[in-house]
Amino acid sequence: MEIEEIIEMDEKHFMNVYSGRYPLYVEKAEGIKLYSKDGKVYRDFLAGIGVNALGYSNQRFKQVLKDQIDKIIHCSNLYYIEPQAELEKRLCQNSCYDRVFFANSGSEANEGALKLARKYFKKKGSNKFETITADKSFHGRTMSTVTATGQDKYKKPFTPLPEGFSTVPFNDLAALKAAVTDRTAAIMLEPVQGEGGIYPAVQEYLEGVRKLCDEKDILLIFDEVQCGMGRTGELFAYQNYGVEADIISLAKALGGGVPIGAFMAKEKVASAFEPGDHGTTFGGNPLATRAAAEVMDIMLEPGFLDSVKEKGAYFRGELDKLVSSNNNLIETRGLGLMLALEVAESLSAKEITSQLFERGFLVNAVKETTLRFLPPLIVEKEDIDLLIKNIEEIIKAE
Ligand SMILES: *Cc1c(COP(=O)(O)O)cnc(C)c1O
Repeated sequence: MEIEEIIEMDEKHFMNVYSGRYPLYVEKAEGIKLYSKDGKVYRDFLAGIGVNALGYSNQRFKQVLKDQIDKIIHCSNLYYIEPQAELEKRLCQNSCYDRVFFANSGSEANEGALKLARKYFKKKGSNKFETITADKSFHGRTMSTVTATGQDKYKKPFTPLPEGFSTVPFNDLAALKAAVTDRTAAIMLEPVQGEGGIYPAVQEYLEGVRKLCDEKDILLIFDEVQCGMGRTGELFAYQNYGVEADIISLAKALGGGVPIGAFMAKEKVASAFEPGDHGTTFGGNPLATRAAAEVMDIMLEPGFLDSVKEKGAYFRGELDKLVSSNNNLIETRGLGLMLALEVAESLSAKEITSQLFERGFLVNAVKETTLRFLPPLIVEKEDIDLLIKNIEEIIKAE
């Protein structure tokens, strides 16, 4: 099919929620390169919004998926699933958590995390049920996760919203303390905010939040859907801070492209869930958990996460050089390979994104003035150099 035909069919039949898609139809992909039908090559610095951490066409990963497809794709949670048990073990052994539940997306993982927090207090006979989240946060699209999300544009169309949610400025401990009431059950934060424009939490802030939660008997939930799974150079973003939440959610990169989400909790909290409290038809199925177990094995090989740190620092350094030599660039932000370049209002991040697209680079204008980079974790320095050179040329020409 030609791209024009695909566009026509899509415009006719698909719900109109993704207006302004880029005219790209990928026929094959390898490493960080996407090949379109018309023969153009794109270097991917967005990785399917942080999903394709291993890049494309990783031979070992593909072989494992093929092997699993030959064995069994789906089996309900009424029965035992070997790859699920393997993945549970890997996640728990490599984190501070004791138990895990598998969902199919980030929203669903957060939904489960919020349910667990409520059940924890209900079981204790407490009437705490409220959750405080941060401005600029993004937690998903289901009714409660969209309500938890600290950006009005996502939730305004859907009022009235579920009760029990409030938001406060991010990285502002005093504001958070002031918002806590005797009904506060949970505080939910992204250690590095993603959709809000790549804002890492400040060390003292996260430490202060942990202390506050301990003092007030509040559960801390980290939404690591975007910043988890190697993205920051540690397997989990919280490991950069040495601050442990009671519950953590994961998704995006977890399955290397196969849809899967998860939330984990420490035993004290996880044990609040009793038979019948939660469940899923698809979550944790053999194909998805086999994929995620392999993703973890690859990420945990010696050197993999170190190389993410190293390339992240290099990328950040090159972006910083651009900023210091150009008045129209404001700052860089991020951790590991989760980076942003803030541009002046006189420039448009969308326009730069379009021009990069023309030149064969995929990035994302997460805000009017913010370019976001979430490359596959296997990105090479040469790819980074090429991207930087092209950004520089585009900005000079403005
Ligand atoms: C993407 C994202 C979600 C939602 O994940 P979906 O899989 O789209 O439901 C939730 N939280 C964060 C931090 C995200 O980046």
